[in-house]
Amino acid sequence: MNKVVFFTDLQKLPDALNNFDMKSFADKRVPVKLHMGEVRNKYFTKPDFVKMIIDELKKINVDPFLFDTTVAYPGLRHYVSGYQQVARLHGYTMKKIGCDIIIDDSGVIKTVENRDFEVAWHLVNSTHIIAISHVKGHIQTGFGGAIKNFGMGGVTKETKKRMHHSSRPIYNKDACTHCGVCAEVCPFDAIKVTKNNWNRNKRTCFGCGVCINACKNKAITYEDADLQYLLALSAKACLEGKNVLYINELKRMAKSCDCDPFPGKIIVPDIGYLVADDPVAIDKASLDLINDVKKDVFFKENKIDPFKQIKYGEEIGLGSSSYQLIEF
Ligand code: SF4
Ligand code: SF4
Repeated sequence: MNKVVFFTDLQKLPDALNNFDMKSFADKRVPVKLHMGEVRNKYFTKPDFVKMIIDELKKINVDPFLFDTTVAYPGLRHYVSGYQQVARLHGYTMKKIGCDIIIDDSGVIKTVENRDFEVAWHLVNSTHIIAISHVKGHIQTGFGGAIKNFGMGGVTKETKKRMHHSSRPIYNKDACTHCGVCAEVCPFDAIKVTKNNWNRNKRTCFGCGVCINACKNKAITYEDADLQYLLALSAKACLEGKNVLYINELKRMAKSCDCDPFPGKIIVPDIGYLVADDPVAIDKASLDLINDVKKDVFFKENKIDPFKQIKYGEEIGLGSSSYQLIEF
């Protein structure tokens, strides 16, 4: 069945929300899941926009709170207090937004396809969720949208760390012809190949999987699984059985994500906003609209097929890639 995805602008976005069953959100404490930006990043979702959504929710008697999780890598956002500090720096204060701002560091194990994911406590304990996802490129997963907002952003830093490790490459020297293709495509220059040697720098390897996809001889495989597959599973662990309304913001789209202090220049012109109740449909519609404006831009920039998240998401029953786009 085709999912309906509404394509709108800032002015009409509040009305577009009312195409969905917003009444079911009334009288509930509802997390508004978003990424409040890494230090020095300029492209993260802006507080004025988020306040507009919060105000709309309050009008229908929702009790919203902004919500994100701590990150796996070192830095201020590794800790609850540090992330709160960064959020304040970026304009996310209770005074400005008018609701609580909660950074979660605790989780509850949820199992999907025999894999465990520690889902943030506040998501597990909510029946209704609003997702605000800033769409942009991503150096490890091709792009980030609604699936990634939960697949990585909805779980604890221990699970984040494990997911990244799971997608690191394992080398089989018997199958290697030393062709050097993997070294050529590695975006982080982590592989060195000579006539007799193959070496991967574990410190600079991000586990993106680009080398694995490029090796025709299957001489490199995932330690466990493709990161984009794990993202889809993890998103399902966060979202299964919940009532979720997704807003994708297709603005300020750079090569790299909001976790990156230096995400690069904007590579896609601003497009607008999408609203849907399916994470796979809204991400597929986002990528299709971006491709209409600049064909394969994320793939060209990051050498990773961003549609893999969509394919995996559909395969595991996270959502549907068939959608009907309605301009609103
Ligand atoms: S692409 Fe595969 S076969 Fe070629 S050097 Fe790398 S691992 Fe070996
Ligand atoms: S997984 Fe990515 S970063 Fe690591 S060696 Fe392969 S291409 Fe390079």
